[in-house]
Amino acid sequence: MRYLGCNNAYQLHTVVTSKLPLLDGEGQTIGVLGSYHDVTDRKRTELALRLQSRALDASVNAIVIIGVVDGANVIEYANPAFKRITGYDPSEVIGHDCRFLHGPDGDQEGLTAIRRALSANLEASVVVRNYRKDGTLFWNQLFVAPVPNAQGLTTHHIGIINDVTDLIRYQEELEYQANYDTLTLLPNRNLLRDRLQHAIETARRRETKIAVVFMDLDGFKNVNDSLGHSVGDRLLAVIAEWLARSARSSDTVARHGGDEFVIVLPDLTDEAGLIAWMERTRTAISEPVWIDDTELYVGCSMGASLLSAGRRRRRNRHEEGRSRNVSREGHGPQHVPVLSAGDERERRNLERRLRRALRDGEFLLHYQPQVDMTTRAIVGIEALVRWHDPEQGLVSPASFIPVAEESGLIGPLSEWVLREACRQNKAWQDAGLPPARVSVNLSARHFQQRDIARLVTSVLEETGLEPRYLELELTESAIMRNAEEAITMLSELSSLGIGIAIDDFGTGYSSLSYLKRFPVHRLKIDRSFVADIGASSDDETITSAIIALAHSLELQVIAEGVETSAQHEFLRERDCDEMQGYLFSHPMPHDAIPGLLQQGVLPTDRTFSRATAARADAGRGRSRRR
Ligand code: C2E
Ligand code: MG
Ligand code: MG
Repeated sequence: MRYLGCNNAYQLHTVVTSKLPLLDGEGQTIGVLGSYHDVTDRKRTELALRLQSRALDASVNAIVIIGVVDGANVIEYANPAFKRITGYDPSEVIGHDCRFLHGPDGDQEGLTAIRRALSANLEASVVVRNYRKDGTLFWNQLFVAPVPNAQGLTTHHIGIINDVTDLIRYQEELEYQANYDTLTLLPNRNLLRDRLQHAIETARRRETKIAVVFMDLDGFKNVNDSLGHSVGDRLLAVIAEWLARSARSSDTVARHGGDEFVIVLPDLTDEAGLIAWMERTRTAISEPVWIDDTELYVGCSMGASLLSAGRRRRRNRHEEGRSRNVSREGHGPQHVPVLSAGDERERRNLERRLRRALRDGEFLLHYQPQVDMTTRAIVGIEALVRWHDPEQGLVSPASFIPVAEESGLIGPLSEWVLREACRQNKAWQDAGLPPARVSVNLSARHFQQRDIARLVTSVLEETGLEPRYLELELTESAIMRNAEEAITMLSELSSLGIGIAIDDFGTGYSSLSYLKRFPVHRLKIDRSFVADIGASSDDETITSAIIALAHSLELQVIAEGVETSAQHEFLRERDCDEMQGYLFSHPMPHDAIPGLLQQGVLPTDRTFSRATAARADAGRGRSRRR
């Protein structure tokens, strides 16, 4: 038998020829019997099969042919790539149901989709998790096509297994980088925004609240500056890890940038719980951290917001003060969640205008008298800064102090306030008015700078004001933030002969042991407690307790924000030493003060209050919040 090729110009044919000799009686060949059998089609089929088989062998994708036998999907063929991808030799798997590839992951969404498609005799392509022989996971982009027989009945499936593990890992990596901070491995701003949105939506649906805490580390810059960024980075990672570990699964601990973190607590919905959480966290963060045999200390400042279903809950100033607790001074809760680009622009704009204000002398001081409880004589005057913005008029400090703190403008601003208050007080004394001490507020940020005592000394010298006529007010949180250091600084200040008051007392966490060691002279009961006299028995108890505590520590007490005679009466009964508030006088421009000092004693009726208020401008009415 021979194969013959016959080229007839158009088509190559393969022919099988067989030739038989035709013999006569003597065995002589008299002819040839030839038969030609055209096998072109068969050859083509064979070639195709060989090519296909080669293609199957060479394919980088694993290919399996699965026979449908009594409802089971049994592997009839697997190509060499199947072994490369799955680790199973084809001989091990032939005759087995292909389900073993799914491992423990049998109810994946993708598999359901495949089953659905196959039962409808349709092709399907899905990405599923499969497991190799050694148990490791690989991502399989699986394409399955049914093979029907002549009657249209599916007898087989072809499965193509494409190992896309690297691709999926790469996608995951990209996704991770877009959503997580690579240093701390915490969610970044991006993911925080999503999580926050999600938490807010859930809270809205369930009509619950969520707590959002904004935290920034105190003293982190020092670590970075003195020990280098790599130590700073490791410190951040340690703190982040602690925060993440102590969070519940429903919480989100995110790195907002730099040394700032935002924590979303969807299950912490009451103020007391939130405050306790913040206190615990603050204590833990201020524990020393060891890095390369160096003991590092950082503290943290926190601001928190309880967001209720619907809208963000607006707090009045009193609540704000109270819930602020460990918050950074001047940052109310409404400042807390993620700053948008718009906020950031507005902030920078405000910063620019504040610089200009400082340069062009747009700041001024208003003064609010502080009176003796029993005699109602003016014993002190608190200097409260105002900004006369050419565009907006008088702006209250609550709207610009935070930005001044963030931008470093607080230093020159505080210095100006201190100098101006001392100069003014000395001028009143020189004019023959009855002397009173002037109280100056010191921001937490400014207090952290170590040369305060030197500044105070030089300002007193320059202005000629006697130290006993100057008092500095520091908020409780500013002092407690770095209590040990505060003791040193307060001692230095106190040794100058000036007075020191703890402002907004009751809103932070003073530990009694510290309070005894602080060389302070006066506690100022936060106005939020005073405001609730007559309304909240808790606040009345706290107010009474603060007065008793102060007296037992031989400290003076002043109540701020006294507005009503009932509050006045309550405080008088409990022997509060001094008071300050609208009941006596609003903060007034400097030229209204000589008259009051001359008068000496302030009446407490509302008519007076309102009349003086009309003259004065507390800077609140016209001011705008950021
Ligand atoms: P603060 O030191 O606790 O000042 C008392 C605030 O209570 C003042 O608000 C004052 O106007 C307000 N106030 C006084 N009496 C009453 C009253 O009877 N009822 C009510 N509801 N409020 C009363 P102001 O002037 O808006 O100042 C707000 C805060 O801004 C101050 O709180 C202080 O923390 C800060 N601040 C003001 N001036 C300066 C400053 O020169 N430097 C720094 N660092 N902070 C300042
Ligand atoms: Mg004050
Ligand atoms: Mg205060």
